[in-house]
Amino acid sequence: MPCWMHIFPYPVRFATLLSVIRMITMEKLMTDCLFCKIAAGEIPAGKVYEDDDVFAFKDIHPKAPTHVLVIPKMHIATLSDCDDPAMLGMLMDRVGTIADDVLQLAAGYRVVINVRAGGGQEVFHLHAHILGGKKLPF
Ligand code: 5GP
Ligand code: ZN
Repeated sequence: MPCWMHIFPYPVRFATLLSVIRMITMEKLMTDCLFCKIAAGEIPAGKVYEDDDVFAFKDIHPKAPTHVLVIPKMHIATLSDCDDPAMLGMLMDRVGTIADDVLQLAAGYRVVINVRAGGGQEVFHLHAHILGGKKLPF
């Protein structure tokens, strides 16, 4: 009778262990994350748009007449943690669509991503602020 160590050689066991640790860590981060809970509908927020990849909702403390946050549904803590250009391209594409087509900010708008504490980031789930509805001083 072959022992399981022969069936699953060392590199396979190590890779499996790593992926289990990664899954547990990601699950813990997501269960602790305010914006993951908002995207999952566990915490109410003023939803303005949703698709398979992103969720957009009104900021609870608006800094402009229109202030919407756009988040990827996948938990990414901060911009500098994302090494997936396609994901960032998708996020920016949705930001433009939401600002122009959903929020109808024809006069223009500002997009802000605060990165880490020094950049003013308070919630550690990547999000883009869309600000509009008035003339915005720089
Ligand atoms: P950051 O400073 O991380 O770039 O932006 C976080 C934003 O999330 C802030 O503008 C803050 O007002 C908003 N925010 C924090 N908690 C909540 C919440 O529970 N619901 C909503 N809708 N917005 C929130
Ligand atoms: Zn999250």
